[in-house]
Amino acid sequence: MSELQELVDGVYRDLKSHIGEGKVADYIPELAKVDPKQFGIAVATLDGSFHIAGDADAPFSIQSISKVFTLTLALGMAGDTLWTRVGREPSGTAFNSIVQLEYEKGRPRNPFINAGAIAVADMILAGHQPREAIGEIVHFVRFVSGDDSIAIDHEVAKSETGTGYRNFALANFMRSFGRLNHPVEHVLGVYFHHCALAMSCRQLARAGLYLAAGGRNPVLDSRVVSRERARRINALMLMCGHYDASGDFAYRVGLPGKSGVGGGILAVAPGKASIAVWSPGLNEYGNSLVGTAALELLAQRTGWSVFGT
Ligand code: GLU
Repeated sequence: MSELQELVDGVYRDLKSHIGEGKVADYIPELAKVDPKQFGIAVATLDGSFHIAGDADAPFSIQSISKVFTLTLALGMAGDTLWTRVGREPSGTAFNSIVQLEYEKGRPRNPFINAGAIAVADMILAGHQPREAIGEIVHFVRFVSGDDSIAIDHEVAKSETGTGYRNFALANFMRSFGRLNHPVEHVLGVYFHHCALAMSCRQLARAGLYLAAGGRNPVLDSRVVSRERARRINALMLMCGHYDASGDFAYRVGLPGKSGVGGGILAVAPGKASIAVWSPGLNEYGNSLVGTAALELLAQRTGWSVFGT
């Protein structure tokens, strides 16, 4: 067994008694049904090998982790003009916060808070019907992961569409400042559907490899983005990927990462590995409690923090 597989097994073993801790997101009714007693981890290294433990092949709702892929796609479509629509500063506020939008006249602080991802969805809609834009996103995620079986969980999308009052408020507020180019229902249709993508840790770790390997997916041997763009997306993940707990995540884990309220986290160890963890119980900031602990242990034991060993 490889040394890394032993480390991954050790992390799983050491956290096993904590699996189930935290609170499953219940503001999306479909997510409230998920059994909290699950945990998966997958580490994909640049040579294409996988080191997994627990429920690494169980699909879960990736939720806001999808914002990494929509940002990548939108940057490919619009280039740096994207930054006229959305900032790249940490928000220091909750994922669904509206307060800063008023000060910034409807321009979200970064592409990873809900408001920012809604602006990105609006950009992806340019020249498309909502169904086509959703298709583009699914196509892109399948491409980066090299896996055509990845799909949207339509029950989750429907569930959030029926209860996403806060996101409707954010989108309407932005629209009132002239910040959205498409009808709110269309933009949120795209947003709710990409949040409802279902993936396993193994699929997610594979999909994130382009960020760990300078823009190229080494397993698929295909370039996804330039080296410079991969580096910049990693910078955004580090600064903004965990909402108002981004500082804490940098302190404890020290890797670019993006969380989702489904309990998943995608983390990137540049030049080394792409890591996905999942455990549905969340901490008070809406980030996976045991998932964060797993990344903290893994980063400690591998010395992979971008801030030093
Ligand atoms: N779809 C979720 C929402 O808009 C995403 C939030 C998250 O994963 O952090 O509320």
